[in-house]
Amino acid sequence: MDKREFIKKGLTLGAGLPFLSIILQSCGEESLGAPLIDTNFSGNVIIVGAGAAGMTAAYLLQRNNIPYEVIEAAPVIGGRVKRIQDFADFPIDLGAEWIHTDPSILSEIVNDPTVTGDIDFITYNPQTIHLYKNGKVRERNWFNNFYSEWKFKNTTWFGFFERFILPSIEDNITLNLPVTSIDSSGSTTTVTTAHGNVRQADRVIVTVPIKILQDEVIEFRPALSSEKREVINNISMDDGLKVFIEFKERFYPDALLFGSFIEALTADDKTYYDAAFRKGSNRNILGLFTINDEATRYTSLGSDERIIEEVINELDDMFDGQASLHYQNHVIQNWSAEPYIRGSYSYTFSGSQNSMVDTLKAPINNKIYFAGEALSIDAQATVHGASESAYDTVRRMLSA
Ligand SMILES: Cc1cc2nc3c(=O)[nH]c(=O)nc-3n(C[C@H](O)[C@H](O)[C@H](O)COP(=O)(O)OP(=O)(O)OC[C@H]3O[C@@H](n4cnc5c(N)ncnc54)[C@H](O)[C@@H]3O)c2cc1C
Repeated sequence: MDKREFIKKGLTLGAGLPFLSIILQSCGEESLGAPLIDTNFSGNVIIVGAGAAGMTAAYLLQRNNIPYEVIEAAPVIGGRVKRIQDFADFPIDLGAEWIHTDPSILSEIVNDPTVTGDIDFITYNPQTIHLYKNGKVRERNWFNNFYSEWKFKNTTWFGFFERFILPSIEDNITLNLPVTSIDSSGSTTTVTTAHGNVRQADRVIVTVPIKILQDEVIEFRPALSSEKREVINNISMDDGLKVFIEFKERFYPDALLFGSFIEALTADDKTYYDAAFRKGSNRNILGLFTINDEATRYTSLGSDERIIEEVINELDDMFDGQASLHYQNHVIQNWSAEPYIRGSYSYTFSGSQNSMVDTLKAPINNKIYFAGEALSIDAQATVHGASESAYDTVRRMLSA
């Protein structure tokens, strides 16, 4: 699948888009399945990475009374699910923000039907939409017929995991411990970390971003097969950046898209949006979501100072100098600069996605398993896709 085909697919599935076409939202979602698994497995498990996939895998092992430890390189849990609480009067998602499917998926992840009813959601269907093309901002409010999905009202993706998943697993998470090698040549598997700590496990679930596998941050012994390596190197994960800016006055629409109508619908690379939309806040918080080449334009500038300068300059050009006039404060989340993320999310560019994912998730000697957003077929590049892949992997691991 080439990039354009992927983007078209993304439009219909909602994968990777900040906004989602209303047409197919939540169609075809399959149930994640029961968390309790009939198993003879009695060993211990190490999960590498405490993002959505790692935390969901831990939650499932906890429910099945399987001993496990989650080893996370960063000083915080969450991975690409990250929150800032003190920037505005509502918590802001610095990574995943939209719920790219029916919110009932939250109940499915926790396997508790009450969860979704316990959270307030926003129907996210921006009403004022402008399009920037050839140096002009044009009103295109009729676009609002094409966009509708969901966001959290008072919480975030991070808040969801913190409230419903973390309490039962947090005692088993070790932070600040980058895994450097996984050796499955012996009878048990040896996991070694940057500080020289060595742990043994019967099974290991690797949930690190595809870019971390591409960059060979973790050495596998024996080495990964050439088939697996080829698949890893053929999945793209490019730059990713989010910026939030507070202004004294509001001068921008609910959403500002780029290019022609078709380009705005099919390309997901860059959007300015009112981050306070329906949050019940009086603050003026503008978000910038950008990935791939558009993100590289900013991340290649080399410093946060130059990024915000570029963003304010471009807003001034589009909105007649109002950005610098009303600017108050900003926060930048450069995902490409996170040492254990290194980009936005996966795109399958070449080959059949099904066979690529099958090759990647095939366990190694029944000892090393893989999970994470890149391994979801229906929901690649999303949080619920990462959780879905964890359900699938844990089920296969405990049934083997
Ligand atoms: C800018 C941006 C916007 C997005 N918007 C949305 C959205 O609106 N909606 C949506 O559903 N999805 C969105 N996504 C995608 C979503 O965030 C991801 O698909 C999902 O969070 C990935 O979860 P994961 O567990 O697969 O990977 P991650 O969250 O990346 O978790 C992997 C973990 O592994 C850790 N790790 C890496 N290397 C090592 C090592 N050597 N040793 C130990 N630990 C290691 C990392 O620190 C990380 O915590 C967005 C992503 C980005 C970047």
